[in-house]
Amino acid sequence: MALRTLESLGSLGGRRVLLRCDLNVPLKDGAITDDGRVRASLGTVNALMNAGAQVIIVSHLGRPDGAPDAKYSLAPVAQRLSELLGAPVAFATDTVGEAAADAVGALTDGSVLVLENLRFNPEETSKDEAERRGFAEKLAGFADAFVSDGFGVVHRKQASVYELASLLPSAAGLLIASELEVLERLTESPERPYAVVLGGSKVSDKLGVIEHLLPRVDALLIGGGMVFTFLAAQGHPVGKSLLEADQLDTVRGYLDDAEKRGVRIVLPTDIVVAERFAEDAEHVVQPADAIEESPFGASGLGLDIGPDTGEAFAGEIRGARTVFWNGPMGVFELAPFAAGTRAVAEALTEVGGLSVVGGGDSAAAVRALGFDDDAFGHISTGGGASLEFLEGKRLPGLEVLGWQR
Ligand code: ADP
Ligand code: MG
Repeated sequence: MALRTLESLGSLGGRRVLLRCDLNVPLKDGAITDDGRVRASLGTVNALMNAGAQVIIVSHLGRPDGAPDAKYSLAPVAQRLSELLGAPVAFATDTVGEAAADAVGALTDGSVLVLENLRFNPEETSKDEAERRGFAEKLAGFADAFVSDGFGVVHRKQASVYELASLLPSAAGLLIASELEVLERLTESPERPYAVVLGGSKVSDKLGVIEHLLPRVDALLIGGGMVFTFLAAQGHPVGKSLLEADQLDTVRGYLDDAEKRGVRIVLPTDIVVAERFAEDAEHVVQPADAIEESPFGASGLGLDIGPDTGEAFAGEIRGARTVFWNGPMGVFELAPFAAGTRAVAEALTEVGGLSVVGGGDSAAAVRALGFDDDAFGHISTGGGASLEFLEGKRLPGLEVLGWQR
């Protein structure tokens, strides 16, 4: 079954439309450090404004503890949205309380309102379905229709993603539709060679995808924090680098399986090892099987892939016709450990076929390193969501919009 699109909602002029976006941007000292997710939301917001709808935007930001917390306020995001739209954007200081109700009442056709962070309300992410439903009903009371466009959360069964969609006439927005189109190209007969590059720090989250991808790809390139569990599984000591000791057997299983299937798992041959986790830390390049032989011994930290590995990965990537990349190759936020991520990003811009960057930090990394969004085939706004899509998992936030794999 196909995703219900905006057209399925009919004419939206003069109607109140609740729009779920993913405006979960990275913030530092109250300032937005990467507004990619706000920009990715503009298409649908503009479409609804131009249709003459009264647009009520809801989103989460960060992980507040189910209660208001000024450092996770959406106020600066509403401000940025207004700048990017070139139009005023109203802001309500609560989500379903009096401020929200008043602001909704003041909307006019073609105008936009952002409600405060959904996750200031514990019901949004509650495990209890009845609680989520109760919260969704309050949100639904504000509007005549619901548009779901927060791709980064479609793998979550949360009130504003899942329950809300069944309470109002609902459809997917333009962002979700375009994300899905690209991901389907990755899963349905991708052009070969097909290479997947994995890195980042959420190791156990990402190990799961390997099992599903192994039978489907030609090469799997592994860097970032998860690489140390692979090196350790091969019997190499990794010092104080990120390591998931309870996953060693699983990883050994992947290595065996890959060999049987003739899929290449490409691991680093060299690693940048630092004395400590800091911008000004002393660091050296070590062979990947001799991390503890650095001057820092068993307390050394692997913070990036080495230069030889960067070149080897870049060669693999340039030779592929389809590439999916999720997770920085190193701690790119610290300049001395950004080279691996830069090498991979650079190579992705040279792929002749389809290149896709997925993951919040990966997207932020390519922008922070000065790459243009257009240099890649697609930059996905959802890391977890795109990985779960590639893993073949069920995505409740898409199924409730009519989509079936
Ligand atoms: P994404 O958001 O793109 O899915 P993750 O959230 O999994 O990526 O990981 C991003 C983080 O991984 C970055 O903050 C980066 O500093 C960190 N990282 C990458 N390599 C390492 C490493 N070797 N050790 C520790 N952290 C790492
Ligand atoms: Mg991340």
